[in-house]
Amino acid sequence: MRLGRTIAAGVLLLACGGCLTTSDTGASDAIDGGDTTDSKGDGSGPSPEVCNLQDDDLDGIIDEGCQTKPNLRADESWLDLGAVYLPGGLGPAPVKAFTLPMLNMGVVLVARDVGGGNSAYVWAESLTGPDGTKFLTPGAWDLSANRAWPSLGRATALIGMAPQVVPSAGVWKFSFTRSVQIPLKYSGSATPGWLYLGMIGRTALAGMEPLKLDIDVFVVGNTAGGAAKLSVSPQWKAIAGQVNAIWAPAKIQLGKVAFFDVSGDDGQKYLYVDDVSSAGSANEMAGLFEVLGKLRPTSTAVAVAVVSGIYDMGQPVALGLSHLAGVPGMAGARSSGLVISIDPQQWTKDQSALAGQSIAATVWGTTLAHELGHFMGLWHTDEFDGSLADPIDDTSSCTISASVLTPALCPQQAQNLMFWSPAAANLSKGQVTVTRRHPAAGL
Ligand SMILES: [Zn+2]
Repeated sequence: MRLGRTIAAGVLLLACGGCLTTSDTGASDAIDGGDTTDSKGDGSGPSPEVCNLQDDDLDGIIDEGCQTKPNLRADESWLDLGAVYLPGGLGPAPVKAFTLPMLNMGVVLVARDVGGGNSAYVWAESLTGPDGTKFLTPGAWDLSANRAWPSLGRATALIGMAPQVVPSAGVWKFSFTRSVQIPLKYSGSATPGWLYLGMIGRTALAGMEPLKLDIDVFVVGNTAGGAAKLSVSPQWKAIAGQVNAIWAPAKIQLGKVAFFDVSGDDGQKYLYVDDVSSAGSANEMAGLFEVLGKLRPTSTAVAVAVVSGIYDMGQPVALGLSHLAGVPGMAGARSSGLVISIDPQQWTKDQSALAGQSIAATVWGTTLAHELGHFMGLWHTDEFDGSLADPIDDTSSCTISASVLTPALCPQQAQNLMFWSPAAANLSKGQVTVTRRHPAAGL
């Protein structure tokens, strides 16, 4: 076992007061699918852990230290929970336990394919709190308070995706699973394979202290005239001002903002993202974030890619896309950031727009604020077809029966930033509670 490093929060903590720890016990065969007795089968006893998918040091955790650690701010820590094997067929997936040392510590659980590929979807299947409350239940994914987004190759789960899921100190249990099919509803059928598990945590908040969200803006190709022009433009000022105005009720503001160009062949390839849904190498979201990871390999900031359009199967899909509950600091992973699009024609028009008629704030600024909401763990209050609502109590759902819930049909709901197609940018108290738990924003 390796302990997470002590969190530096500006004060010295008591020994292990801020450490994340695993809590495997003698029952760890049942808990994590590992072999604590003699994984080599030769009676030779414990030996130093090496990356061989065996528990060499006989501590109940397989291959701890073998996965790439995220880049961390001073107020964050990482706990490597090693690898688990999914035998396939019907679940449940192997359950892992860890100790959350402090009430209200901001934690995101992370799982990824040991092979590092993007061919299988990974998603959180269960989450149980210290008092035994099941916050994510296999078979009741869409009704669970802490359901988390399925994603290719790597998945995450923020602890506390609804206000009632309080990140309380004690032993939590969770599992992730994987499948080659999109499991938007829990399928109960896993595909065999190994997953790395871990968690990133930010020190607990005492109250409503101001938080800073650092972002790296990657301007792809000649979108908005490139990084040098966008960074000094009145449009960017309007975009950033809108983000800060929208997130002011959560006391979350943009912190350090750095600009980069994605140029050359990569800039041309990803100027328009053409495929956001395929498994494997055709998926341009995965490819784009690999490029961004190489440009800023040690960054702890949220990666924001600015492209000229986001398409799938020849159709424009959205003004922005984000991993739901992202993890900044995992360079190269799609889950490390989000994409927004600035249409070149709109940009040109906006350059000559009369004062008060610029769309930079209302369209691009609101889009960035909305995607940052997803990144920090918020679901749409209503999906476009009404198939799913968020797990937050104080956001109202649109109950009209229609194939598409337009803002005109749901005028009250569309006032919320996280309506699938928002007409305004309000946040509820519950949404503020959830996003302040996410470790992306720091002290
Ligand atoms: Zn959205």
